[in-house]
Amino acid sequence: MTISREVRLKSRPVGVPTAENFDVASVTLAAPGPGEVQVRNTWMTVDPYMRGRMNDVKSYSPPFALGEAMQGGAVGEVIASNDSSLKVGDLVQSFLGWREAFNAPAAAVQKLETHGLPVQTFLGAVGMPGLTAYAGLLRIAALKDGDVVFVSGAAGAVGQIVCQIAKIKGHTVIGSAGGAEKAAYLRELGVDHVIDYKAEAVGPALLRAAPDGIDVYFDNVGGEHLEAALTAARPFGRFALCGMISQYNATDMGEGVRGLIQAVGKQLRLEGFIVSSHVDMQGAFVKDMSEWIAAGKIKWRETVEEGIDNAPNAFLKLFKGENLGKMLVKLA
Ligand code: NDP
Repeated sequence: MTISREVRLKSRPVGVPTAENFDVASVTLAAPGPGEVQVRNTWMTVDPYMRGRMNDVKSYSPPFALGEAMQGGAVGEVIASNDSSLKVGDLVQSFLGWREAFNAPAAAVQKLETHGLPVQTFLGAVGMPGLTAYAGLLRIAALKDGDVVFVSGAAGAVGQIVCQIAKIKGHTVIGSAGGAEKAAYLRELGVDHVIDYKAEAVGPALLRAAPDGIDVYFDNVGGEHLEAALTAARPFGRFALCGMISQYNATDMGEGVRGLIQAVGKQLRLEGFIVSSHVDMQGAFVKDMSEWIAAGKIKWRETVEEGIDNAPNAFLKLFKGENLGKMLVKLA
């Protein structure tokens, strides 16, 4: 018998989520059935998109059920196996985070070869956020020689990788993030112009950083950042709309976008994307990232909360900007 504690959605947040929206409950796991494995999670991820799954609305990802354990990325270790494809001690990745341990069919988990990287990296730089950065920049924004690239949420899980890929490809990069510590980190990454949007308004700061305009905008934030990018964009600019976290807690349709009309005259292309539609790039992503990491060209930061009880708080911190790099929860 294994005891596992799990985080359940107790009530649907209205506006900014609070600790009261979550419950931590214990369950007892029996031995895994035929074809099943039992996994103890060592790390789980919290991601901004999970806020959308807390609403009872139809979206690309179904709503979390009330009173049940939530789902999300996790890595862990097989602690019992009833399937020949996996043995005790194997490292696996799954979509069964928000819990300490679980039983699942072996096919529901993926064996993980870490190639010497810390296992939690597969929830960050070389995992979903890394692929999001890669696909958004190289495919959606279709980066080309000479582009000036603007990145919002630049010191976060996705943003930190976007900035560095753009630098590796030889571009001028402007990164925006909130606070002096994040601004210093962006300078460390080689970002050419750093905007601390909490210290100065992003619109005028962007025009100062890019007096001749920007060609690519990688949007993680929406709102004023998107408006600033529309104003700074050069003709035929491309916007990769990755996320708009400033709007995720809106109780209606969110704010409008002032100045959107500029997309017409400047002939801009604004394209939203979801990383799961770009898994065909996984092979190229892994190959490039492995080379860049080996050459010391890509770095990343993590902010770590410990224990399942702190998982809801780790999630809430995303909306207060209290993470530098990837926000993770260490479980064991
Ligand atoms: P981050 O690590 O960037 O964490 C979230 C950050 O957002 C915070 O640290 C904070 O940074 C910033 N933020 C929070 N609230 C606001 C606000 N009101 N206004 C401006 N900034 C705010 O998260 P991720 O890297 O995981 O995700 C970044 C974006 O990418 C999100 O929008 C997410 O939904 C999206 N995403 C999209 C995917 C896709 O497939 N399209 C896949 C993965 C992520 P700061 O202190 O700088 O304000």
